[in-house]
This record gives sequence, C-alpha cells and structure tokens, in this order.
Amino acid sequence: MRFRKIVLGLAAASVAFSASAALRDGTYEARVNGHNAPLTVKVTIAGGKLSAIDTSKNLESNGIGRVALPALSRKIIDRQSIGIDAMTGATISSGALVEGVQKCLEQAGATKKDLKQWNKNTEKYATAPVKTSGDVIVIGGGGSGMAAALSALESGAKKVVILEKLGYLGGSTQVSGGAFNAVDDKRQKAQGIVDSFPIFFEATMRGGHYKGDPELVHYLTYNSIHALEWLEKEGVVFRDKIGAATGSLGQRSHYGVKPAGWAYTSVFESRLKSFGDRVEILTDTQAKSLVMKNGAVAGVKALRHDKQSVTVTGPSVVIATGGFGANIPFRQKVNTGVWKEVKLDSRIGTTNVNKAAQGDGLKIAQQAGADIIGLSDIQLHPNGTPGTGLMQDIATSGRNRLFINKNGDRFVSEGAARDTLCKAIFKQPGGTYYLLMNKLRYPDENKPDRMGVTMKDMLALGRVKKAATLDDMAKILNVPADHLKAAVEEYNKAARNKGTPDKFGFVATNTDDAPMTEGPWYACRKVPTVHHTMGGIRINVNAQVLNKKGAPIKGLYAAGEVTGGIHGANRLGGNAIADVYTFGKKAGESAAKKL
Ligand SMILES: Cc1cc2nc3c(=O)[nH]c(=O)nc-3n(C[C@H](O)[C@H](O)[C@H](O)COP(=O)(O)OP(=O)(O)OC[C@H]3O[C@@H](n4cnc5c(N)ncnc54)[C@H](O)[C@@H]3O)c2cc1C
Repeated sequence: MRFRKIVLGLAAASVAFSASAALRDGTYEARVNGHNAPLTVKVTIAGGKLSAIDTSKNLESNGIGRVALPALSRKIIDRQSIGIDAMTGATISSGALVEGVQKCLEQAGATKKDLKQWNKNTEKYATAPVKTSGDVIVIGGGGSGMAAALSALESGAKKVVILEKLGYLGGSTQVSGGAFNAVDDKRQKAQGIVDSFPIFFEATMRGGHYKGDPELVHYLTYNSIHALEWLEKEGVVFRDKIGAATGSLGQRSHYGVKPAGWAYTSVFESRLKSFGDRVEILTDTQAKSLVMKNGAVAGVKALRHDKQSVTVTGPSVVIATGGFGANIPFRQKVNTGVWKEVKLDSRIGTTNVNKAAQGDGLKIAQQAGADIIGLSDIQLHPNGTPGTGLMQDIATSGRNRLFINKNGDRFVSEGAARDTLCKAIFKQPGGTYYLLMNKLRYPDENKPDRMGVTMKDMLALGRVKKAATLDDMAKILNVPADHLKAAVEEYNKAARNKGTPDKFGFVATNTDDAPMTEGPWYACRKVPTVHHTMGGIRINVNAQVLNKKGAPIKGLYAAGEVTGGIHGANRLGGNAIADVYTFGKKAGESAAKKL
C-alpha cells in the first residue's frame, strides 16, 4: 500500500538543531487536556536530545487520537521539533501532545529562546500537482470506502486509488459503537433469540416509517449476514454474544471482540496494505469534482491540504464520503422532516467526526446528475454528551438502562426507536435526562466495555456519578428519592413480567432484560445529538448511482451514509454498519466489473 504524504518527512528529518543543547537529561511529565480527557505526556531527554515520548496514559478516541499520538510523537523525535502540523481530523489530540511536550521541555530547562526554535515550522510541502490513475477510484477512506476498495481488489481491479480528506483512514465508522445487525442463526439460536429475514425486513421498514425503498431494505436485511461472514473471512472477530443497539427494535446487533468501529477499520487497513502497490491512498486529499466524458465517469479532481491539485483518472468511481450531520447550515436548510420543530443549530452537537461528515459526496454526485433523495430524514440519538453531542461515557446501547428525568421519573419506553426516545427527551425539564445503570451492566469497574473504556476511567472523568444506594444517587442527582425508587421498581416489574407492556409501552422481550436491584448505581446526564443522515444519493441494489430518471450513471457507484433510501425516516441502531459493509462490498464488486 502506497501512502502519499503531503509532508516530505525525510527532508525534514535532518532539521535537528542545537536548541536542545541546554536540556537536562531525565524524564519529565505534563498533564494536558486531550479530546476526551486529561492526557499524560512523558518525555525523556537523553544526551541533551528528546529521545522518547510516552502517551500511553490516554483516553483519546480509538483510531483518531490514538493514531495521532504515536505518529506525531515519532515525528517530533525524528525532527527534534514541535513545529509540526496537526493531524487532520485529530487536531485536539495533536495540540494536546505538542502542549505536553512543550511543558516537559520547559521542565527540562528549555528557555524562551529554545522554545521558539523548537516551535519553528519544520513541515515541507510538495510543490507539484499529482496525477495518478486506477481502475477503481474510491472517494472517502471510511468504513464503506475501505470495504469497496477491498472488494474491488478481490473482484479483479488491478489498482485502486483511495482519496481521503482526513490525515487517517476510518471516518465515522472508526468511532462508531460498531453494532452490526444481521440475522445470524448460529449465534442467535444459541442465545434463544427468535429472528428471521422477514422479521428483520419488517422491523427496518416499520422503524423507518415505511419510507425506505423496499428493494434496498430487502437487499440489506437478507444480505447483511453475508457481509458479516465476509468480514469474518477478512479477519474481523465477532463476539458470540448478540446485543441490541439503542433503537435496534430487535436483538441482532453483533459487536467485534476489539473495541467498537476500530474492530473493522483496523482489519480493513491491514488487509488493504497486503495488496502493496495495487492500492494507492492519498490522505489529506479532498475530492472536489468528477471528470466526466460523454456522460460517463472518467476520473476525480481533488485538492490536497497543501493546495496542490490532484487528478485521478479511471473508469469507475465509488462515492463513500459519509453523511452531513456535522454540516450545521446544510442540516438546518434541509430540516423539514421529523425534526422540523427543533432548530438543529450549533446548540445541538453531533456524534460524527466533524471534518468528515460535511456532505461533500452529495455535491460531487449532483454534478453528474445523480438523484438525491430523503435529505430531510435526519436522525437524532439520545446518547449525546451535553455541550458537545459526542458519544462519550456509558452508552445507551444494550439493556437494563433507564431514562430518568430531572424529577426522578421514567418517561419513555427504553426499548423505543431513536426518534421516539429523542422526542420524549425534548419534552422533559431542561430537554435532558440521566441514563441510570447498576451493577448488572458494570459488574467489574476495571473491565473494558465494548468501547474499550472501563467504568473506573469514566468515573475518573467525572461525568458518570456513582452511588451505593438509590437514596444516595437521588441526592447526587438532586431528584426525589421516592420517585427514583418507584421508577426503578416500575421497570423491575416489567422486567419480571416478560412480555407484558408497562405504562410507557416497554416490554421485556430481550434475553438480557432483568430486574435492577443491586448497587453500585451509575448515572450520566445525556442529551439528544445529531447522529445520522438517512437521505442521500439514490442507488440500486448494485450500488450504482441513479439519475433522476432512475437510470444508472455509467461508472458511478456509492455506498454508506452518503446514500439514501435504505433507512427511511428513522434508522435502526446497528443498521448503518450493516449498510456500510453490505453495500460497500457490493459497490466494490460492481465498480471492478464496470457494471
Ligand atoms: C459515535 C458514533 C457511533 C455510531 N455507532 C454506530 C453503531 O454502533 N452501529 C451502527 O450501525 N451505526 C453507528 N453509527 C453510524 C455509522 O457509524 C455511520 O453511519 C457509518 O460508519 C458511516 O460510514 P461511511 O463509510 O458511510 O462514512 P465514514 O466512515 O464517515 O467515512 C467517510 C469518509 O469519507 C471522507 N470524506 C468525506 N468527504 C470527502 C471528500 N470530499 N474527499 C475525500 N474524502 C472525504 C471522510 O473524511 C471519511 O473518512 C455511529 C456513528 C457515530 C458517529
């Protein structure tokens, strides 16, 4: 796999300078604010040179901050300089690292003059435009893009070029919870779960308020298990235990053994690497437009972050640029659907990787005459962190977690679809709620959960509160204890009476549903956040992009969140990752075969 870098690292590696001469040998430590939590940066000075940086004590995001920290640390050591560019898409982690190293240098005796020298920009930028070609060009190196690239190679494409605007691969898929819905006889039966392709199809249609395209929904629900088996063949290891993502309307969510979305993207990155020069990846490169010849696709024009132009020629292009949930003006403009009463401005955050989820692919596809459908179908998720909207701390995914308002009451069926959950939250005092869990979900505070985080870490960050009893928790949350206890008891009654709906319509149908009786109790405040955009480029079951007349545009394919029609007006939790790999795989096959 050839990574073309913007920055000419080797040229800059020789810029070691004398500013470090004054540094005292030793190991120094600084604590700075990272993306998710405080971060410890440990710097070793040996022989007057910066010889090691240890950032292993961090809670940065898998696949983002955790990719940036070691990569940039290497750069700093090679160059003996902190005058380096942040990694695109991981700016906060990059900045935290540089700040931490600077603080350590100060402790080691660096003077103001020394630090000026340490901060001198050492980046060298390329000067010539890039021209390259491939049988298949993939725009976007996230989940569906990497899936399309790999399946294109496996379907006979000789060379694939991936254009990725961030400094790393993975996109929003990498930070996702990784829930992957599929009807899976083997695992579901072992757990006593009753499911079938028609049940999955019906749940997806119903959950999307019957706005989804039945043909696409059918393809997704009947084929996601084959995509899952393909992932297993490529090296993704799934847990045997099947769960239920928030709003999944069923118990068919699969999770990797490795944490969350990283379970998939790490495997795909290394699989692509194994194809050597047959894959060319241009990171920090933003696709801008398609090259068209006689109504057919002939390539892509892009711009690198050093402003150099990039032209890639080839007969097949897959658009896999993800959604537009982070594009605030655009999401407000098209917000005429289920959330039209709510202003989706900057006060409502997003769970997405900000720079990634801007909707670039929609504009690119429109230039070729693609039909764009369902843009008003925007999904809010109840698991937002107040202030940012990011999905942090304990997750709403799974069972035995209660939604409690500021009066200490339950107010909605916790098993409802995401739009129902979020609409109910907006009606509560302050438009917020506490997610309440107990020992049942976290029997061991030191054991990493599905996101790879321990309860101990979460408690240390302060957003999750812990109490031995419900009385103590009521005091911490400032809610009446009798309300809180009644709310838990009401849920427990429903959990004991499996199959009987409670007053909110909650029915304990999941094999995991059980009464919550024992402390410790854990609670975390949450708000609705923009999560997924269901509308986008219209495709058929071959992932070919269709024009307004419903005819395929020659050479153009799309997959993942950039497409529309699959999820209708509300996406089921766990159906996006299924979509990404089912249609990503199909798009790669179709593009390689030039359908
Ligand atoms: C926090 C979080 C948790 C989630 N959890 C789940 C879950 O558990 N289960 C589930 O089913 N769904 C989940 N989702 C939704 C799901 O992850 C996404 O819908 C899905 O990963 C999108 O995949 P994608 O390949 O379409 O886009 P992405 O993975 O976002 O990839 C798109 C890539 O395209 C790049 N790009 C964009 N524009 C350009 C351009 N012009 N040129 C070049 N590159 C470009 C982006 O930088 C990005 O890397 C979650 C989402 C988030 C944010």
